[in-house]
Amino acid sequence: MSAPCPCGRDASYEECCAPFHEGRAEPTNAEILMRSRFSAFVKRKATYLWHTLHKDHDERERDPNVFVAHMKAGLAGLVYKSLDILDTRPPDHEGVARVLFYAVVLHGAKDLSFVEISSFANDGSGWRYLFGMPKGRAEIKTDPRKLTIAAIDA
Ligand SMILES: [Zn+2]
Repeated sequence: MSAPCPCGRDASYEECCAPFHEGRAEPTNAEILMRSRFSAFVKRKATYLWHTLHKDHDERERDPNVFVAHMKAGLAGLVYKSLDILDTRPPDHEGVARVLFYAVVLHGAKDLSFVEISSFANDGSGWRYLFGMPKGRAEIKTDPRKLTIAAIDA
């Protein structure tokens, strides 16, 4: 049996996120898109990270080649260990869906893990990442895996 996909779903990478990364399929909802972006960080698919930014995302003002080069350089030394999807919200009246996740990320002995509520919208060609509000591990007083969107919104 081949290794499970780094996005955490119960399927191999080839069956799960590879078709998205290779442009053969589009994630059918915001959660799957978010998972595919996480596995793109694991697999260093910087072009996919660019491709899945919504046109309203800040970084979209940059030159794509500069973005990809900068992303690849920034990923050096980072280990994206695991992803937990903690909570999701379906698209609201403006079509914006939200995903709360916990990403375990290490740089050497340094723990760069974070929790983030990400917002996504479908631009007509597929689900895209609009923006996120990350919180570092140190900012979270409780077990991050017990967080919910309602608790953070409160
Ligand atoms: Zn996957």
